[in-house]
Amino acid sequence: MARSVANCVTLLGHGNDDVNPGPDCWAPSEREGGLVRRQMKTHSAYTESAWQRDEAQRLSGRRLTCPDCGSDQRYAPSAGTHPDGSPRHYRACKVCGFWQEADGTPAYRVWQSAHDCRRELGPAETFTCEYCNQDVSTNSHPCGKYLRPDEDGYDCGTCGDFQGIETSTPFLLTGSGD
Ligand SMILES: [Zn+2]
Ligand SMILES: [Zn+2]
Ligand SMILES: [Zn+2]
Repeated sequence: MARSVANCVTLLGHGNDDVNPGPDCWAPSEREGGLVRRQMKTHSAYTESAWQRDEAQRLSGRRLTCPDCGSDQRYAPSAGTHPDGSPRHYRACKVCGFWQEADGTPAYRVWQSAHDCRRELGPAETFTCEYCNQDVSTNSHPCGKYLRPDEDGYDCGTCGDFQGIETSTPFLLTGSGD
């Protein structure tokens, strides 16, 4: 079953995007193969002024196009926070995994980890999963996170399980590379 890009578009939110992929964007049942580390074509440096320009476009409602795969479906400038609390500006494409910080460093391709997240709920209990930002009212839900190329996984605090490379799930488009 193909993932619906349309459902994901509205979920291209702002804020801490890395941990907020949106409910319809994960398809654990499609998981196959391991993580493919492909060489991306070289992209020009992304700067803070370029980010400000992109952000103004995003706010004006104009769609931007991913410089790596050419899709405008789930590509946008994003804002988050560094571990030390300082603001982080970057651009991200959730169709191919193209990611680039607005600090002049080279672009990279994230990988997406997806899993069927299980946590036993009491009667009428609900919670917001802080890993996928969904409101959860069932004992299992599709959960996931985008990870940097050098990350081998993460601990999902909701189910308590480590999510490693084996949870890698392909992007809709492969983007540039070999
Ligand atoms: Zn892309
Ligand atoms: Zn989990
Ligand atoms: Zn979750």
